[in-house]
Amino acid sequence: MRMILLGPPGAGKGTMAVKIKEELKIPHISTGDLFRAAIKNETTLGKKVKGILDQGDLVPDELTVALVKERLGSSDCSDGFILDGFPRTIGQANSLTEFAPVDLVINFTISEKEVVRRLSGRRTCKNCGAGYHVLFIPPAKENVCDKCGGELYTREDDKESSIHNRLAVYEKSTEPLISYYGDKGLLKDVDAGQSPAEVLSSVKELL
Ligand code: ADP
Ligand code: ADP
Ligand code: ZN
Repeated sequence: MRMILLGPPGAGKGTMAVKIKEELKIPHISTGDLFRAAIKNETTLGKKVKGILDQGDLVPDELTVALVKERLGSSDCSDGFILDGFPRTIGQANSLTEFAPVDLVINFTISEKEVVRRLSGRRTCKNCGAGYHVLFIPPAKENVCDKCGGELYTREDDKESSIHNRLAVYEKSTEPLISYYGDKGLLKDVDAGQSPAEVLSSVKELL
């Protein structure tokens, strides 16, 4: 199964991708995670994109498409993959259609109010990137990752000033993908405003 998780920032795509990965045993590819790893490792790519991520703007299509194309070329993607946060523009979607057409696009629908609540309480592991929420999905021990013991932090782009820019960028550049994939007959909606267990069960019905 080759699938895309589509939806605004904070809809819960990454959280569900981890569960779908366990279920289907196919890799979870998050372009945000790939960019954050490049920044952490201070690679050439990381230096180029750091300011863009902090502001909540989009990395240029050319760089993003090259990164994904390379990742999807790995042998672990031969039985399928879960794309989380890619494509984010019509240009990226057109490129993907050329090199790796998908079977399913799950569209996470959620209110803006709920998304702001989720983003402002999100905490991320500095070490492994696992995601938590201070109220909704807290770690067993405050500020400590359940999976690896790493320290949790608030992403620069989860601060108030970037959140609003990211939502505007989503509306302008990414939302048109809903009709793009709808027209191709690939789109399925999931009510992402439900509890994690309910969202997972709605997702499983589509697999
Ligand atoms: P995305 O990958 O779409 O940006 P995340 O998976 O990182 O979103 O989720 C955003 C925030 O909301 C995180 O803090 C996460 O722990 C929390 N979250 C995810 N799914 C739910 C849910 N169903 N109910 C409440 N909080 C959730
Ligand atoms: P979220 O789901 O919370 O918006 P991501 O981790 O998916 O966050 O993305 C973080 C940032 O990485 C984005 O705001 C953007 O700067 C960059 N990014 C991720 N994926 C893409 C993409 N497909 N195209 C351009 N920029 C991207
Ligand atoms: Zn961790």
